[in-house]
Amino acid sequence: MNSLLSQIKHLSHQIAAKTIERRRHLHAHPELSFQEFETQKFVKKELEAMGLQAQEIADTGLIVLIEGKNPTKKVVALRADMDALPIIETNEVPYKSQNPGVMHACGHDVHTSSLLGTAQILNELKNEFEGTVKLLFQPAEEKAPGGASIMIKQGALENPKPAGILGQHVATNIPAGKIGFREGMYMASTDELYLTVKGKGGHGAMPDLCVDPIVIASHIIVAMQQIISRNKNPRLPSVLTFGKIEGLGATNVIPNEVKIQGTFRAMDEDWRADGLSKMKKLAEGIAEAMGGSAIFDVLKGYPFLQNDPALTRRMKAAAIEFMGEENVIDLDIWMAGEDFAFYTHHVDACFYRLGIRNEAKGIVNGVHTPNFDIDESALHHGPGLMAWLAISDLNT
Ligand SMILES: [Zn+2]
Ligand SMILES: [Zn+2]
Repeated sequence: MNSLLSQIKHLSHQIAAKTIERRRHLHAHPELSFQEFETQKFVKKELEAMGLQAQEIADTGLIVLIEGKNPTKKVVALRADMDALPIIETNEVPYKSQNPGVMHACGHDVHTSSLLGTAQILNELKNEFEGTVKLLFQPAEEKAPGGASIMIKQGALENPKPAGILGQHVATNIPAGKIGFREGMYMASTDELYLTVKGKGGHGAMPDLCVDPIVIASHIIVAMQQIISRNKNPRLPSVLTFGKIEGLGATNVIPNEVKIQGTFRAMDEDWRADGLSKMKKLAEGIAEAMGGSAIFDVLKGYPFLQNDPALTRRMKAAAIEFMGEENVIDLDIWMAGEDFAFYTHHVDACFYRLGIRNEAKGIVNGVHTPNFDIDESALHHGPGLMAWLAISDLNT
């Protein structure tokens, strides 16, 4: 076996207890998006204990360089997100959230502790690789405009400029011990839609004297689905969902207005812009034709996430060397969003998934739920795998 690979495996297992201890500390002390001040301090302190200097960015983020031999030869970036969610944790575990109403329910504590472990391994082995590893500890993945977009604006991908970036995310549908990859389009852009349909309210028995916004809103909702089925290229995945309709009338009261909220997801930036413009035109046109009016507002979210095919193929091959062929799986397209997508539109990227499911232990709950947890055995190989992927990329 490649001696560097076995060295990394050995180190990853050797520091596993420490990695889990860090994950539990972060899990017990979660902070919301853009408020990761204590998390930043903790990560900085851990890095300093390894002899690594961290530079602050995006208020609560950090950037760290680990230089190997010939540091300017090639740079690869590794990213971990650090924020938690406004969820009340229901797990009764020793590391339960001590910050009421805030919970690491998306595994960002896992990503952060795993990247700290990766840093420790790479720092020990810095005479064994050429180039530089740039670590990005990023705030606010969960909240628009996304910490990634701010990190990029503040220069995270410059000086030095990485040739590629890797990110990992826990996967609750993949057993611990397995890793998932996908080349090309992987996750969707996410835009929030806020539509107000204005009419003229009145008595439910006299609709002729009113402009009924409920009926207008109903037409708009049905017609908009046809933008997906009739205007979109059928080879591109896209989703339109309205999850909230509010028309505060009564059985016999036609309200003045109806508010609708939804989400639009796409895997192509041209279609994303085109779809939104068609929706606005259709909503306004239908409302006007029916005697009312519509205001169509969009809160722009993250772009779609594209994994560079060549980099992803190389990383998958390296993961097979580290994990064994039977433990590396292919992923399906997933219509959720992730702000790592911003990086993927600037630099070759590979976002892969770390299995954390364990049915025998009852660890089956999805991310963003109050009883989400992980099989911590994933933290035995997670840090080593990322170190091996980084070194494999630098050595090509
Ligand atoms: Zn999340
Ligand atoms: Zn997440």
